Amino acid sequence: MQVSELLSGELATEFKTVSAMMEIYCKKYHGSGSNLCQNCRELLAYAETKLDRCPYGQKKPTCNKCPIHCYKPEPKERMRLIMRYSGPRMLLKHPILAVRHLRHEKREVPEQPKVNVSNRHTRLELAKQGAENKKATREKE
Ligand SMILES: [Zn+2]
Repeated sequence: MQVSELLSGELATEFKTVSAMMEIYCKKYHGSGSNLCQNCRELLAYAETKLDRCPYGQKKPTCNKCPIHCYKPEPKERMRLIMRYSGPRMLLKHPILAVRHLRHEKREVPEQPKVNVSNRHTRLELAKQGAENKKATREKE
């Protein structure tokens, strides 16, 4: 299971879930050990970018219920196969993540937020504030 350095909250948990599912699949079909193969690493990085930019932000519905189709067809199909194989196997390997995901799946899809609440937007805002605070402190000194 991998940890994202960009994502926070629900999105970080979702990233963990996706990476765990990819590890199960990659081990079985690409013969990888504890690390993902090159192709899967790239797909996971793609998934991370999509999570970071998801316009729902922390309110993101599960991907298979989402009305926005943000994946391109090719990675989407690869991810679909991974989910189909690893979904049922998650309950044994990572029961807490699996149950959380199943519960999440039952939630209603929220209205799409009108303001920018994506992880990326929040992350960049925080970085900007941090830089401004630092500047302000420096100017006081
Ligand atoms: Zn792989």
